[in-house]
Amino acid sequence: MDLGDPNLRPIRVLGEGSFGRVFLCIQHEGRHQKKNVCVKRIIIKNPKAELALIKEEIYIISQLRHPNIVQFIRSFNHAGTVNIVMEYAPNGTLRNVIQQNKLGVDKARLLQYFTDMVIGLEYLHIRHVIHRDIKPENMLLDLNNRVKIADFGISNVHAPSKPSQTGLGTPLYMAPEIMCTDGKIDFKSDIWSLGLVIYELCIGRNPFASLLRPNASVQSVHNVVMALSKPKLDCQLMRIRYDPIWPRICEQMVVYEQEKRICLPDLLSMDSFITLTVYKQYFNYSY
Ligand code: ADP
Ligand code: MG
Repeated sequence: MDLGDPNLRPIRVLGEGSFGRVFLCIQHEGRHQKKNVCVKRIIIKNPKAELALIKEEIYIISQLRHPNIVQFIRSFNHAGTVNIVMEYAPNGTLRNVIQQNKLGVDKARLLQYFTDMVIGLEYLHIRHVIHRDIKPENMLLDLNNRVKIADFGISNVHAPSKPSQTGLGTPLYMAPEIMCTDGKIDFKSDIWSLGLVIYELCIGRNPFASLLRPNASVQSVHNVVMALSKPKLDCQLMRIRYDPIWPRICEQMVVYEQEKRICLPDLLSMDSFITLTVYKQYFNYSY
């Protein structure tokens, strides 16, 4: 397979989607230097409709530099494809972690994943980027098992006056306001999805999945979501293995009504131990 860049040698396929493939590649840098990188190769089928979206994805990730966001390296066109070269996260995704820990991850790892994800998300939200597709598959793990938020395929820069139209995320993690045609997407839509990721790390499954067929329509997902998250999701099951702070956090994140859902700054100050952990991490960055 030729990606169109002689310095990039594909090693294996890491992921496959409707857009094309994601490859692990070796990038040759000079005579004796090489490193692993990841290349997301997007096949352009309908330039008119797709190019603007891809431009938005590349524009957004090219502006970001943070330890909890997958690092963009460069992009190039080749034979009807757009290729995004980014850092390689070698330890899989939180989906793999959930599959390997059906009874929930241990407390220390839960706190670490949570801290990484909220700090990464805060970095995005400060820059007015709404991710819009937060889910375990898009949370990558680096060599040290630290979370790197990836996949900005449907993200956009929030402008309160402009309705968000850039496609839909995955229904099981999608905030109810995104499912309703008249709903207002905002930063709290990411908070909803993150709450579901935390729930799944503790319980081993998405709370809505058992009541839905695998390819359920957005309308059916909405009905189930409304029944289970109004006024808020019941997270009592989490109390069996985790400190009461975790069900309290989830119950404030997975709240049907946006206005009543917790916002990111309040989430960071809900519990003094979590606040302290987050602050310690703020001062421990190396770029
Ligand atoms: P999609 O739009 O299909 O969801 P993603 O950007 O999420 O595309 O990539 C699909 C999958 O490829 C991810 O779920 C992950 O398993 C793998 N992947 C993507 N980027 C990387 C990366 N930088 N390092 C390692 N694996 C990656
Ligand atoms: Mg993805």
